[in-house]
Amino acid sequence: MKEDTSAKRILITGAAGFLGSHLCERFTGEGFEVIGMDNLITGSLKNIEHLFPLPNFEFYHHDVSKFVFVPGKLDYILHFASPASPIDYLKMPIQTLKVGSLGTHNLLGLAKAKKARMLIASTSEVYGDPVVHPQNEDYWGNVNPVGPRGVYDEAKRFQEAITMAYHNYHGLETRIIRIFNTYGPRMRLDDGRALPAFMGQALRGHDITVFGDGSQTRSFCYVDDLVEGIYRLLFSDYHLPVNIGNPDEISIKEFAEEIIKLTGSSQKIIYQELPVDDPKQRRPDIQRAREILDWEPKVSRKEGLKITYNYFKSLPEFQQ
Ligand code: UDP
Repeated sequence: MKEDTSAKRILITGAAGFLGSHLCERFTGEGFEVIGMDNLITGSLKNIEHLFPLPNFEFYHHDVSKFVFVPGKLDYILHFASPASPIDYLKMPIQTLKVGSLGTHNLLGLAKAKKARMLIASTSEVYGDPVVHPQNEDYWGNVNPVGPRGVYDEAKRFQEAITMAYHNYHGLETRIIRIFNTYGPRMRLDDGRALPAFMGQALRGHDITVFGDGSQTRSFCYVDDLVEGIYRLLFSDYHLPVNIGNPDEISIKEFAEEIIKLTGSSQKIIYQELPVDDPKQRRPDIQRAREILDWEPKVSRKEGLKITYNYFKSLPEFQQ
């Protein structure tokens, strides 16, 4: 899918985070003028420092929950700012709610003023602890609004609702992606999610902590596949939500065993309490992405895990 990207200007929020940094890399590489924005509460400048010398990259240190000012023209906005791992949004519940609600409202206002197209990062969490399996986009979800994950899930559901309202009422061009579990280089080792937790434990010689009995399932997508899906969705003409994820489903216990095997560690699995409202099963139905975007994931878990493990191994902490 080749676009005329010369001199197109794009704002990427959450630029210093895991997904945001990969998006900044992709869009600068495609020749866009990229403005990365981040308040750095969970992101790190280390993720984007290699982009600073580029003539088509600039960085604004800003919290999008406050009024967002961008001088000049803007063609696209990708809203990826938010704490996104369960321990982060439990630690920062109010910021999580604000970036999904007030932040999204500010950016929609900016998109309207600039006549820009806006894509929002929604999530499989809008399906909550799903009673439909696999999850397709027509499923309305099973979310506990007052549970610990409610701050993230409901902020993202509100984000979808206000984005649709701007589309329907103001005629704004909008895109909604529902992202399922994604992994790859630049995840934070201490973000509490299963993959960095297991790899960090393997590297430090700690036992592997599986929550519950490990029978809950997830489906892990490699970051390059996700970025390709986002790219295609942005340039499609489809405004309803699209799931992007890898349908290769695995139980968390088997996932832990795969990581033990890959890392050659001799650690054992220890079982800890399952967090409240932890979804029991999750697998995307990606029929819509296949039909509309001609997209499907290409990187196998085996391949993706190897690349990710090599990244973690190369961190200064593990270089003696
Ligand atoms: N999990 C685990 N051990 C850990 C971290 C997470 O067993 O050290 C489990 C967690 O309870 C969930 C699954 O792994 O069932 C995926 O968790 P993650 O935080 O990666 O993402 P989620 O899909 O729950 O947002």
